[in-house]
Amino acid sequence: MAIVLARTIAELRQQVQAQRTAGKRIGFVPTMGYLHEGHAALIRLAAQECEYVVTSDFVNPTQFAPTEDFERYPRDLQRDLQVAEQAGSHVLFAPSVEEMYPEGFATTVSIRGITEKFEGAFRPTHFDGVVTVVSKLFNIVQPDRAYFGQKDYQQLLVIRQLVRDLNFPIEVVMVPTVREPDGLALSSRNVYLSAEERQKALSLYRALQAGQSVILQGERRRSVIEARMQEVLSAVPELRIDYAAAALAETLEQPEAFSPGARVVLLVAARLPSARLIDNLLVQVPNP
Ligand code: AMP
Repeated sequence: MAIVLARTIAELRQQVQAQRTAGKRIGFVPTMGYLHEGHAALIRLAAQECEYVVTSDFVNPTQFAPTEDFERYPRDLQRDLQVAEQAGSHVLFAPSVEEMYPEGFATTVSIRGITEKFEGAFRPTHFDGVVTVVSKLFNIVQPDRAYFGQKDYQQLLVIRQLVRDLNFPIEVVMVPTVREPDGLALSSRNVYLSAEERQKALSLYRALQAGQSVILQGERRRSVIEARMQEVLSAVPELRIDYAAAALAETLEQPEAFSPGARVVLLVAARLPSARLIDNLLVQVPNP
């Protein structure tokens, strides 16, 4: 069956309601479009676990700061329809900005704590925009399960916090990061990179791997792990590092040293002249 394109909230609700009444489990994959294999992995898992899959395709202006790339963010609805259908989505919800934020819109959903470090420290209004739009999308779609990529690890923890705090009856599922063969995490923003920058961007994943390998060799001091990642990133002079950090995977707390068996997330963010990139890796500290 061909994928349905829903451009309004009313159309989307009508589509989903019919499926819910038929007893189908609703899976939801929120995206900003320009779909790639990372998005497709989310949709495929949703289609395995749920009988009906909604993908949203909305470049949300409120999660971009005025200085950021909202205007030039890549968009291609026709291709998105194909990718989403191919991966198993039943409907693509692609509303206009006016449909989502009509004249007079005045609500912000805001989360303290976990939103304040890392991405939140460098993009102070970002998570308010994300949390508000995801709250709206959850209320519009009312899915049973929602699929988020590990690629945006902090965002995933923020969404889990949202679901807990506001009692959304939704199971949040994390999907591992999809990478190019050389390790670069897929991202819609990779189209901004020149061939040279594309090579330089590889140092993010290399830094994460270097951090992982010192942990696996027995290093537990956070400062040493972070210094190792910084060292790899610093080898590329054009790269401006926002952060290279190790934190507890569940809470993003940053103890001076990690305990044996701890689940650690290594997080990096850095800017090249034409794009800001983030990546992360989950590592378990070995038991002695
Ligand atoms: P975006 O369109 O960039 O806002 O991403 C939409 C969803 O796809 C988010 O949950 C992202 O974490 C996820 N995603 C983006 N890139 C990847 C990737 N390379 N691997 C897995 N998930 C991804």
